[in-house]
Amino acid sequence: MIQVENLVGGEFIVTAECFDDISPLDNSIVAQIPRTKNVDNAVLAATQAQPSWGGLDMDERCDWLDKIADILEKNIEEVARLESLDTGKPHHVAMGVDANRSVNNFRFFANFGRSIKSETFEMEDATNYVLRKPVGVVGLISPWNLPLYLLSWKIAPALLMGNTVIAKPSEITPLTAHYLGKLCTEIGLPNGVLNIVNGYGPEVGQAIVEHTGIKAISFTGGTATGKIVAATAAPMFKKLSLELGGKNATIVMEDADLDIAVPGVVRASFLNSGQICLCGSRVLIHSSIYDDFMSRYLEELNELEIGPVINVEHRNKVMSYIELAKKEGGQILAGGNVLDKPGAWIEPTVIAGLSHTSRTATEEIFGPVVTIHKFENDAEAIEMANCTNYGLAGSVWSKSKGREIAEQIDSGMVWVNTWLHRDLRVPFGGIKDSGVGREGGMWSVGFFSEAINICVMED
Ligand code: NAD
Repeated sequence: MIQVENLVGGEFIVTAECFDDISPLDNSIVAQIPRTKNVDNAVLAATQAQPSWGGLDMDERCDWLDKIADILEKNIEEVARLESLDTGKPHHVAMGVDANRSVNNFRFFANFGRSIKSETFEMEDATNYVLRKPVGVVGLISPWNLPLYLLSWKIAPALLMGNTVIAKPSEITPLTAHYLGKLCTEIGLPNGVLNIVNGYGPEVGQAIVEHTGIKAISFTGGTATGKIVAATAAPMFKKLSLELGGKNATIVMEDADLDIAVPGVVRASFLNSGQICLCGSRVLIHSSIYDDFMSRYLEELNELEIGPVINVEHRNKVMSYIELAKKEGGQILAGGNVLDKPGAWIEPTVIAGLSHTSRTATEEIFGPVVTIHKFENDAEAIEMANCTNYGLAGSVWSKSKGREIAEQIDSGMVWVNTWLHRDLRVPFGGIKDSGVGREGGMWSVGFFSEAINICVMED
């Protein structure tokens, strides 16, 4: 049994009260998690550490990020093992998606930091230049679906820009953040630069958002939680980045190359048991290829092996949507059932026959459930794709019209003939109820720094 500890000012600490970390593979208890309610000590440690960390040269902080990437890479098997234990995801997903990307996040921002150019704006009689100062102590809050992947996506740029960090992993999946803390201590990262606190969102998460010593909040999670975070942080004028939910459309055009589209759409539907904010949970198919596509899609599904969803509570939520779909007139083409074994297992589920405006087809389910819809022409496909309150991602599968259709989708990112193909320099984020702000490359650098203009009059 693992005892998860908070990392505060270089010390590993356990609170008097702890709660269970349960594996969705079989409902066994795998760890004890501190139930933290107060972050004063963590903020104090981060505040004390910030001036010297922020005072390092950018190159020195890049070297630190490389050291973190190195030690994570050296221990990548353990990262994947812990992620798999905590989330139930198969080892190849925990390794291929989570562990690799966690290493890459630190490596990418180390290299990116070295490539940042100074920004100057010449006037006839003066020179302006931009000084990027750290924001200060920043609060980073992340969800359970890609635990270290998403937390390291925030920690790396925050540290790069000279901030010190209070990080809070999801209370459902704390193991890899805890392990990262251990590794950073092992390599001698200065005390107080990275602090990690554990506990329930409405307690320790809320304490982070409310704390006046924390100057920026980067939050990834559900839209309902994002609203609470925004309402708390906005009157304090904290910098705020919100990466929230999605209900992404996958559009299969009449000229799609089905050899590419079928496996691609299956992957977009069900990777990580459909628990990726970018998953394509609404598949829109042109009527002329509908039968052909669907028979190949359902056949491909037979080959699929997925892990459980994150816990029994979430399984029950996902199942309630399958029941709702039946009431709304949906036909279950595949799956639809809980697997009869311990843990939180659901069959990959495909539902057709629903209106694209039904609740099942417009609300985020965040599980291995997709709805299938038929369209007759481009205009109808675009109307269907844009009919939800979300606007995170999407994909278009077409030999000739990919860009044209992609540009008309109201979402932060659209892939054409691929999905989840990521260049970490590009803007990542959502519109509408999917969030505010962008992460990635210069967007992360901008969020985690205060851009100060110095205007120097020439002699
Ligand atoms: P959640 O909103 O329940 O929790 C996210 C984090 O917020 C957790 O660490 C939680 O403890 C914390 N939290 C809860 N209440 C809080 C409060 N009042 N103040 C501060 N923090 C609080 O989300 P979840 O169920 O963990 O994750 C699933 C959701 O995350 C889905 O909606 C999914 O789409 C979204 N998500 C979005 C992205 C993205 O990049 N846009 C990526 C992954 C997941």
